[in-house]
This record gives sequence, structure tokens and C-alpha cells, in this order.
Amino acid sequence: MTATTFPTQLIDRFGRKVDYLRISITDRCDFRCVYCMAEDMTFLPREAILSLEEIYLLAKTFVELGVTKIRITGGEPLVRKGALALLEQIGALAGLRELVLTTNGSQLATVASKLKAANVKRINISLDTLDPVKFKAMTRTGELQQVLAGIDAAREVGFERIKLNAVILKHRNHDEVGNLVQFAIDKKIDISFIEEMPLGVVDKHDRAEAYYSSDLIRADLAQRFTLLPSTQKTGGPSDYCLVSGTQTRVGFISPHSHNFCASCNRVRLTVEGRLLLCLGNDHAIDLKSIIRTPNATEQTIKQAIVAAMEIKPEKHDFNLQEQPVILRYMNMTGG
Ligand code: SAM
Ligand code: SF4
Repeated sequence: MTATTFPTQLIDRFGRKVDYLRISITDRCDFRCVYCMAEDMTFLPREAILSLEEIYLLAKTFVELGVTKIRITGGEPLVRKGALALLEQIGALAGLRELVLTTNGSQLATVASKLKAANVKRINISLDTLDPVKFKAMTRTGELQQVLAGIDAAREVGFERIKLNAVILKHRNHDEVGNLVQFAIDKKIDISFIEEMPLGVVDKHDRAEAYYSSDLIRADLAQRFTLLPSTQKTGGPSDYCLVSGTQTRVGFISPHSHNFCASCNRVRLTVEGRLLLCLGNDHAIDLKSIIRTPNATEQTIKQAIVAAMEIKPEKHDFNLQEQPVILRYMNMTGG
């Protein structure tokens, strides 16, 4: 294959166009959310993770292969030293339509304006509860006030869109879905509810028992709000509704109860440099080894990425009842 024969669009063997890359730039985090991490986490040593230069090289290569949207995530992306400079570099890539970020919000009060300057268009901020005691229980180390201040800072900066992400667990925060939607309405932002996914071994709750489906959340919300079906399709797994009389959209991400694989347009780059073809399967290629090979060229890297499209699975199959679950944590894969 010569340089001129590389496609300008990544297509998998099921004909799905892959134009969205999510990059986990660190496995570290200042929180320890119960559904995401064990309390006592061992993080990866520096040499095991991609350097900022390697992440940039891969981001640039993917954009040359037709990726138009990149989400930076983690772990908590904003705790990695040099994250802002990396965002600036990626945000300046010609051909990239959208640079977006997922964050727990803990650093936003100080960095929101710098993110906007780095060309970050939209931000997802995780917020599972408005109760400071429950917030501490769910994140183990987080402070609700800090995150609320971060949300306000992001609103003042004026991103194109701010969306809250809330993972709902039965008996922990399922009674808060209405309050969370009202909070989003008051702040004129959007919110998505996420069903917990069985990624990594967590030690403090039984996932099957904590499962609270999107359908239950919808039914709870229907008692307090009128949800109008939205025709808007983002190409992602969220199924959106508009709250009648407001600008707030409510999304439902339902990996268990609604399968969204047919329209999957994304791949993930883990912090260890594995290109993960599906969140719910282990199909991956090791891009770190490829780029660290002494004779690696732009060609060999592109070849590997194009070839990887052939092993993107058709669909995921999460099963909460059976072991083993996928033995990697969300912080390493980039949720
Ligand atoms: N630290 C950032 C944050 O919390 O937004 C970014 C990384 S976090 C892994 C990305 C998203 O994944 C968050 O919205 C989080 O709630 C979600 N998440 C983490 N573990 C999950 C799980 N087991 N099931 C479903 N969502 C999960
Ligand atoms: Fe950290 Fe985000 Fe995982 Fe919570 S969900 S522990 S904030 S990476």
C-alpha cells in the first residue's frame, strides 16, 4: 500500500463509517466513583501509557484517515499534566470538526476558559446526584460544591453545548432523576442518563441489583415532566427527548435495554495505546507497540488502523448475571 492509496474515510466490514475517536489520556482520577473504580486502585506506570506526543501523533493520523470528531476523556483528563497543551494541539488539527471533552468537573472552575480557547466545542460533565452526602458516597473523594462551581464556570464561558452525564443506580440515586432534570432545566443545559455497564470489577455493589433501566427512569420522569420525542440524532447511543416548554434535552444511554450497535461510528484509544474496536468486547490492536517500533512510519501506523476496521465486532453483549465481565475499567478505556 502506498501513501496515496490510504482511504480518507474509515469503514468497517459492516459498512459503518468510523469518524469518531475517543481518547483516554490518563487512567488516573481525583475521584473513585463506585461504578467505575475500586477504592484501592493501582494506576499504570508512566512507561505503560502513551506520552502526550504519541497521543497527538495518533490523533493526527486518525484525522488524516477521516475522523472528524475526537473526545478526550479518562480517568479524569484534566488531572494529566500537559492536558491543556495537548487539547490545544489537537484542537488546531485541520480536518477535525469537533473536539469535545468528558470531565468530572472538579477542575473546571479554573480551566473552563482555557478549554474554550483550546477550541473545545462541547463538554460532558458527570453529575450523579445533587446531595453532597450521596455525592461523597458515590465518588468516594469528590466534593459536590467544586463540581457545581465547575458547571457554572463552563456555562459562563459559553460552550456550544454542555451536557450532564448521570449514572443511575437503584437505591443510591434513582430517586434523584427528577431533581437532576430540573437542575439541567434551570441551568439551560442537557442531561443524559446512563445505565451502568459491567466494566472492571467493582467491590462495593452488586451490579445486577443496582441496575435501573432507562425505561424506569423515563417512567419516573413522566410523572413530573412532559418528554417530547426528539428527532435529533447525534449518531451516538443516546436516545433524546425534549422537555416540553424548555430547551433541555434528556438523553438515555441504554447499553442493556436498547442496542445501539448498528449505527456505531466510534472507536476508542486506551491510555495504554490499545485501539479498542468496541466498548463491550475485547477486540483491539496494540497501537503503542506499532508506534514504538524503531522503523515505524506514518504508513505502517495507517495500515494498522485501516486493518483494524476488519475486526470491529458487529455488536456488544453485556450480561449482568454472568461472569466474567469485561476486565477493564472505564477509566482506562474512556467512557
Ligand atoms: N472522569 C470523567 C468523568 O467522570 O466524566 C471522564 C471519564 S468517565 C470514565 C466517563 C463516563 O463514564 C462518566 O460519565 C462516568 O459516569 C461513566 N462511567 C464510568 N464507569 C461506568 C460504568 N461502569 N457504567 C456506565 N458508565 C460509567
Ligand atoms: Fe473518575 Fe470519571 Fe471514573 Fe468517576 S467516572 S472515577 S470521575 S474516571
